[in-house]
Amino acid sequence: AKVSPIKTINPFNNELVKSFDVMTEEQIDSKIALADEAFQKWKNTPKTERAQLLYRVAHIMRVKSVQLANLATLEMGKLVKESRAEVELCAAIFDYYAEHGERFLADQPLETPQGSAFLSYEPIGVLLSIQPWNFPFYQITRSAAPHLMAGNTMLLKHASNVPQCAQIMEDIFTEAGFPKGVYQNLFIPGSKIDSLIADKRIKAVTFTGSEPAGSSIAAAAGKYIKKSTLELGGSDAFVVLDDADVEKAAEAAVRGRMWNAGQVCVSPKRVIVEEAVADLFLEKVKTKFAALKVGNPTDEQTDLAPLSSEKAVEDVIKQVQKAVEQGAKVITGGHRIDRPGAFMEPTILTDIQPGTDAYQEEIFGPVFMFYRVKNEQAAINLANATDFGLGGSVFSSNNERAVQVARKIETGMVYINHVTGIAPELPFGGTKHSGYGREQSPAAIYEFVNAKLIRVT
Ligand code: NAP
Repeated sequence: AKVSPIKTINPFNNELVKSFDVMTEEQIDSKIALADEAFQKWKNTPKTERAQLLYRVAHIMRVKSVQLANLATLEMGKLVKESRAEVELCAAIFDYYAEHGERFLADQPLETPQGSAFLSYEPIGVLLSIQPWNFPFYQITRSAAPHLMAGNTMLLKHASNVPQCAQIMEDIFTEAGFPKGVYQNLFIPGSKIDSLIADKRIKAVTFTGSEPAGSSIAAAAGKYIKKSTLELGGSDAFVVLDDADVEKAAEAAVRGRMWNAGQVCVSPKRVIVEEAVADLFLEKVKTKFAALKVGNPTDEQTDLAPLSSEKAVEDVIKQVQKAVEQGAKVITGGHRIDRPGAFMEPTILTDIQPGTDAYQEEIFGPVFMFYRVKNEQAAINLANATDFGLGGSVFSSNNERAVQVARKIETGMVYINHVTGIAPELPFGGTKHSGYGREQSPAAIYEFVNAKLIRVT
């Protein structure tokens, strides 16, 4: 029999925990039919009722926080304390759309000399949500909360390595009292996606993941004239200006880069430091690296978790080796950690030359690409010298100066004196090859609605 790609493998010890059957064509078809049928009622369900159900999901997630956190840690290896914080963030996002959704979706009057006019925000139907494993609950939440609130129904195709997280979220929606079919999980491989996008009953697709997969999904959506949002990779610049609080910057950089073992789309991947403070910054980073405790992610004391899989750690090691072959230097780390599980040393790469792979690529692991620059303008040029455009940070003791620099960075988000963050009320998303569309904040809820004009004469 064919081995299913959908399974739980614990990256702490590489043990296979559980395997799931891939759904048959018939099963998939009946789920699409159910989602379409559910939409006919859900779109007319009063918004206050939808909001009550979102509140219920938030509540259940908080009640089950420990169980959920343990599942995320088991399936993709993140520190259990980070898993718990992720669950709380999800609950806060559900609460946010429950509290504000009705107001965001209220008719919007327009000024016109011809009679009166307004926009009516109407849901469009079944959405296909395709999500990655790095924040198994948060990725589901940020697509489900606004779009279900808006009256759409959703089919989720989660990453193949987090099936138990995918399943338990479907169970939570059911337990909260969502009508059957409003939210359903699909156990399918990525190769099935094109035929789903072609299906007339599926109206749009929201994707988070890698650039190649995003390009292929957007091409399929374009072919069938369906809207898509893409939240793709990033290689965020972390700019440290010469007047920055270097200790604070180094602390934020290390914490940000080690978060989720470096597997965060908005992690500070390229550290760009003005010459005057570069040595001091590097010293501080090295000291902080040395103090990190590597170990079992279920242990509260652990600082550095394994990567999400054997393949993930091998891929990062290959990228580092390639960078070195192309002239970069490893000044600390660069290897696997000599123990079972998908662990990698915290690493600093320097002397990365324009035109080499590392200069352009995203590295999805605990690796800093370190650049020393002559001045502020050189920092801005380097920050923009990538096709990605997701987030970024500027550290300076002068907020006005930092904001001026932030305005010149070509990304969807820039944080001053902080790593790129996540909050229910703030938009999240990128530009350039990091994709298009926004999640969270009021903006997300308008991505998949028909903003219909109604004019009254
Ligand atoms: P990935 O390979 O693109 O996988 C993401 C999802 O897409 C998974 O569910 C995967 O399913 C599916 N998939 C893979 N190839 C597909 C295809 N050709 N057609 C349709 N679906 C496909 O992403 P990853 O490498 O695991 O995730 C890490 C990437 O996500 C990084 O680049 C990271 O920066 C990015 N990311 C971006 C954001 C953001 O908000 N911008 C947030 C988090 C992560 P299978 O697991 O079954 O292959």
